[in-house]
Amino acid sequence: MNLQAHLIKIKGLVQGVGFRPYVYRQASRFDIKGWVENNNEGVSIHAEATKDALLQFEAALKSEIPEAASISEFIVNEDISLRGFELFSIRKSNNLSNDITEVSPDIAVCQACLNDMKTQPHRIQYPFVNCTNCGPRFTIIKDLPYDRHQTTMQIFKLCNTCEMEYSNITDRRFHAQPVACRNCGPAYQLNGGKLFTDGNKLASILAKHIDSGEIVALKGMGGYHLVCNALNEKTVKELRLRKQRDGKPMAVMVKDITTANKYFNLTKEEVTLLTSWRRPILLLENRLSLAHAVCTGLSRTGVILPYMPLHYQLMSALNTEVIVLTSGNISDEPVIIDDREASKSLASVADQVIRYNREIYNRTDDSVAIVVNQKSRLIRRSRGYVPQPISLKLNTEGIFAAGAELVNTFAIGKGKQVIMSQHIGDLKNVETLAFFEESFTRFKRLFRFTPDLIVCDLHPDYLSTRFALEQKTQLIQVQHHHAHMASCMAEHDLDEKVIGIILDGTGLGNDGNIWGGEFFVADLNDFSRMYHYDPIPLPGGDLVTKQPWRSAFSYLYHYFGLPVFIEEAAIDLLPEEKQLPLLMQMVDQKINSPLSSGAGRLFDAVSALLGICRESSFHAEAPMRLEAAINQQCKGKYLFEVEDQKILFRKLFHQILQDINQQLPVGEISAKFHNTLIAINLHISKLIRAQFGINKVVLSGGSFQNAYLLAHTENLLKNQGFEVYSQEQLPSNDGGIALGQLAIAAKRRQTHLIEQ
Ligand code: ZN
Ligand code: ZN
Ligand code: FE
Repeated sequence: MNLQAHLIKIKGLVQGVGFRPYVYRQASRFDIKGWVENNNEGVSIHAEATKDALLQFEAALKSEIPEAASISEFIVNEDISLRGFELFSIRKSNNLSNDITEVSPDIAVCQACLNDMKTQPHRIQYPFVNCTNCGPRFTIIKDLPYDRHQTTMQIFKLCNTCEMEYSNITDRRFHAQPVACRNCGPAYQLNGGKLFTDGNKLASILAKHIDSGEIVALKGMGGYHLVCNALNEKTVKELRLRKQRDGKPMAVMVKDITTANKYFNLTKEEVTLLTSWRRPILLLENRLSLAHAVCTGLSRTGVILPYMPLHYQLMSALNTEVIVLTSGNISDEPVIIDDREASKSLASVADQVIRYNREIYNRTDDSVAIVVNQKSRLIRRSRGYVPQPISLKLNTEGIFAAGAELVNTFAIGKGKQVIMSQHIGDLKNVETLAFFEESFTRFKRLFRFTPDLIVCDLHPDYLSTRFALEQKTQLIQVQHHHAHMASCMAEHDLDEKVIGIILDGTGLGNDGNIWGGEFFVADLNDFSRMYHYDPIPLPGGDLVTKQPWRSAFSYLYHYFGLPVFIEEAAIDLLPEEKQLPLLMQMVDQKINSPLSSGAGRLFDAVSALLGICRESSFHAEAPMRLEAAINQQCKGKYLFEVEDQKILFRKLFHQILQDINQQLPVGEISAKFHNTLIAINLHISKLIRAQFGINKVVLSGGSFQNAYLLAHTENLLKNQGFEVYSQEQLPSNDGGIALGQLAIAAKRRQTHLIEQ
């Protein structure tokens, strides 16, 4: 027999996802000798066999990988000498010291484990079943290397049966750190009383409570959830009231994909994402209505499928097919993970509180995604995605990016990889700020990270900026929209001068004004502001985001002065007529009226003008409702002007007022407004292309979470020969900004723009 040796190097998400046992099983199948090991780069395999067997082995390795694993690089070196191994072995991890960055995200329970709940005597109906292919990971890990004693499973001693599975290399539970059974693992507890290792029994009790209209607090994978019947108007309203949740839409869980299809319109891509092991909440178009209070009149609902064993058991025990599944917290505080706190504060919201005795170590919210132009776009990147690194071509080692303030995530650089934190939230909330600081401390330990360069926003008052300043480490500050743009560039490995269209709510500009309707030419080092939306004063400052009518007032007054409020009856806009003189005075005398070119305010203004949303009860409500109102058939648009570097909206507002007077349906006005912004995106891109010969356009900023704006801008620009890049892996809102900050810092360090 003519034997050969190959050295195979595999990179990607290949650690903590059962990859080595998988390689072992494939090696046994093709009679391969040699070894497999984890190292800093990923997984390496030394394989010896006949040429045919090696080729079959490699083909199988690539095509049958564990569900949660992914291969980014598969390199075979055939120029290796034979060593004459007689066995195939899993070598002890070579180096788990400073460079390991791969901690697997949490994985939805797999089908094989769901089957085990029906067949394995020690796991009959056991709701904490898991294996190397599924189960909790990031949420339970305290330190590396990823071993049971460094997770919150530490307190559970393996029984003999589990121990055998854990140490048997051919078993699906070989080295599955959270492995457990009903004899040795965690258990659920109802209202601090009875313990349950039989999920079915617990589920049938909960189902009775939920079907009868009660609210239940249920401990999930990364935090508590609040659950109730999504078809029961009274209960959902009650939940909103008790939770002090404004009008913000709530997510729902459906039993299976068939039920999802019944209540929502799904595309092929949406089915794939909804059923993926990452299990995000996916924003789907409504088909059958749920209780109105679930998504309060918006056209999409956040939908998720079961991902923990008890979810499955509960959904089959219930009469209702759809339940609300919203985060277990009060108002805007971080989602609760602590059992005692849950019993205390969720007891006022929920009729029943269900905990389990395995600790959640890292708080992780459900991720949220939407499919636009057949591609998944993350709106919130958390459970199922974090802490999977993002690879860059730049050296990011030692850089800490503090992120923005409102939708904070932070990032750390390890080698050429960036690890983004889970969704943190609004830092202005004291508890959220504490969560930010705690998570940063944990990331430093978990990933053996010491910052030697810190990057943050230009805004001096952002709490993330203040935190960065306190660190007493070299610091650079990056303009908000340059960071948005760089986030998208980093995702797509762009490291050259490109056009950036950044449509966003608020961010501090270099001139001290508020920016957010921006057309840049930029690379990772620096940017030039080529064009921008016409800046308008915002009477009331921060108040404007809560009161969109203020933006509407300001645009009208800016373009048409006092007469518009008398002749056009636009006075209806204001909550009280007598406010008019005061508002005019504020603007005229520049009292608490900062200038803003933010796209968010333009959306606010039109939404308020159309009477869709004059007072906002949650972040970005006015733009979201304006988008939901669009009549998709309407192709019309309004006029705009470009003067010097400014895009003026005088004609747009003039025409909108005319349309309102002629009682054109709001759906058509909304469509025409959106179509105008899309036309502006093309027009300005062409102007810049003509001037600089740049053909690549990057889209980012919170306004691009508007699916209509994103889809049509992308398509139109592509039709005109542009190469268009938009955010997919990271949110286009402030949740993605840390990556951009980090990429800019890494690039500036590389080009020696930072003094060391
Ligand atoms: Zn499994
Ligand atoms: Zn056991
Ligand atoms: Fe922003």
